[in-house]
Amino acid sequence: MSAGAGSPLRGFHPGAGSDAAGGPIDFTRSGVVWLEGEAVLIEPTGTGKPLARLRDGRLVVGGGGRAQVLAAIDRWYRREARQRIEPLVEVEGQRLGLEAGKVRIGNQRTRWGSCSTSGTVSFNWRLVLGRPEALHYVVVHELMHLRHHNHSRDFWNDLAAAFPGFREEARWLRVNERRLLQWKPRI
Ligand SMILES: [Zn+2]
Repeated sequence: MSAGAGSPLRGFHPGAGSDAAGGPIDFTRSGVVWLEGEAVLIEPTGTGKPLARLRDGRLVVGGGGRAQVLAAIDRWYRREARQRIEPLVEVEGQRLGLEAGKVRIGNQRTRWGSCSTSGTVSFNWRLVLGRPEALHYVVVHELMHLRHHNHSRDFWNDLAAAFPGFREEARWLRVNERRLLQWKPRI
């Protein structure tokens, strides 16, 4: 079931509480994946190639067994993350004059992103579970580390100039971090 035609951010407000009472976000819910704050029903076909794709608002997943279905969902999430993150790295990099090297999509259990001294920027695919604005913030945050390899005052000043709403997104990530980083589909 979809969370509805309203804002995809419904139920994601910082401070909504761990149970987000009344909101659509229920990380204990089975049979769904979360994408940009919306629940998408998983529809296993029970046969065919272990491939996941969105169709008519559902995630249709092939493959014979549970392990195959979960692996297909994992690959799908990484694709979704890359499709959102790569263009943002490109566009924001140009806007800010910060050119990244490689873009890695990972499954870090403790962090949203990182930036190496060689210019590789890494992002957690779980960023696509929640607010698109929070994902956007993490991209700009990591790009800014190409200029400042630290969290100095200069870093935060430049980040505030580049992404004025950063405090709200950082707060949202802090509030929801534990549930987002530990979430996995229940099928
Ligand atoms: Zn940082």
